[in-house]
Amino acid sequence: MADRIKFLGTAGARFVMIKQLRSSAGTWLTLEDKNLLLDPGPGTLVRCARSRPPLDPTKLDAIILSHQHIDHANDVNIMIEAMTTGGFSKRGILFAPRSALKNDPIVLKYVRKYLDEIKILKQGSVYRLGKVRISTPLRHVHPVETYGIVFRTPKYVISFVTDTRFFPALIKKYKKSDLLVINVVRHDGKGGKRMDVDHLNLEDVKKLISGIKPKQAILTHFGYTMVRSKPWELAAEVQLETGVKTTAAGDGMEFDLEKQLL
Ligand SMILES: [Zn+2]
Repeated sequence: MADRIKFLGTAGARFVMIKQLRSSAGTWLTLEDKNLLLDPGPGTLVRCARSRPPLDPTKLDAIILSHQHIDHANDVNIMIEAMTTGGFSKRGILFAPRSALKNDPIVLKYVRKYLDEIKILKQGSVYRLGKVRISTPLRHVHPVETYGIVFRTPKYVISFVTDTRFFPALIKKYKKSDLLVINVVRHDGKGGKRMDVDHLNLEDVKKLISGIKPKQAILTHFGYTMVRSKPWELAAEVQLETGVKTTAAGDGMEFDLEKQLL
């Protein structure tokens, strides 16, 4: 199976999710014959089944939660059920911050038993899954314990800059990325409600991309101000200003790493 990323959903934050202006399903990655699901928000199981061809959750090797917020973790239980065929075949690994298991225990206790293993994400940790190296170089600034996720394969480095406020260490820690996938919730940083300050806006994204200089960038996890402002036009603006090829993800978009990145 070719290495690829499938964006089952591209909704970010509350309003776009609640109204389902965009799907809030997670992101499915196939890397070195491993299948990983990142941040299974509401609708992930449905979008897997409706995908063409369908994505089979019993083929998943791991589920990863960057944090416990519902737009990232709502479907974690049903996806563990699906991955393990309703608990009949004990398998798979769950990666999650401690906060998602303890503070807001969004992962039900009975489904935890279906898993082969639960790995607690920590700042600076490195995990291996076959030929894929999964690391969490730094804790993000977000209201709950949140990590960005870096996938390193023998061919490339893919960094998911998940929910966070902008801070300069992001540039340093994601510096070696070939592909940068960025959650950009807000169009501009001005006049927003206080609860929104711990998300990236378009100006932050430009700083990140200019500082990191990946081969390519993909924007996703759009809040209402982004959806309203036509993300594909904003991606073109980012590309023009940074010189880095930048795409706005759409629901169901598939990115073939071998064909589109190298
Ligand atoms: Zn969040």
